[in-house]
Amino acid sequence: MANFADWQDRMLRAAWRHGDDLPVEVLEWISELYGEVGEISEEVFCELWTARTFSMARAAFQVIKKSVEGEIGKKVTGEEYCYIDYVRDPDIGPVGVVRIKSVEVSTPDWEEILGTMAEGVQEFVMSHYRIVWPVCENHRKGLHAGYFRGISVWRCREGRAGGHVVRAIDPAARL
Ligand SMILES: [Zn+2]
Repeated sequence: MANFADWQDRMLRAAWRHGDDLPVEVLEWISELYGEVGEISEEVFCELWTARTFSMARAAFQVIKKSVEGEIGKKVTGEEYCYIDYVRDPDIGPVGVVRIKSVEVSTPDWEEILGTMAEGVQEFVMSHYRIVWPVCENHRKGLHAGYFRGISVWRCREGRAGGHVVRAIDPAARL
């Protein structure tokens, strides 16, 4: 497996902030890719990495879009606004960056993509509709994206315990 380790190391240097830990599913994806196509070049690897990040960001956006539109009764997509920006330039940071409002998705990790996307949609709803979303039913305060046991969640900062987890950002996720 010496060849694989060298190759993987080269690919991660090209595509990712070197030294940062990656979730298991990303490492599995890289290893499956190697099994399927062998030692592809950095350039091809970065293209595939970018395509993967973009498709996960789109999937995360769909999940959030569904809950926000159901809850506030307003659209977060439309012809008059285009606010998701896909960036492919490796010179300006990690490969395959997705921007939504002021937040930037530049991670291959699904839960992080979901949490970041949720913050972007939240910011959009505030700036476009002047609506605070989502809100804690008990404390009537806006929620904040965070993580609980590795799952991206909406948290409320109010309450005696100094805050509480309200729900998973993805309604299908199990807390
Ligand atoms: Zn609360």
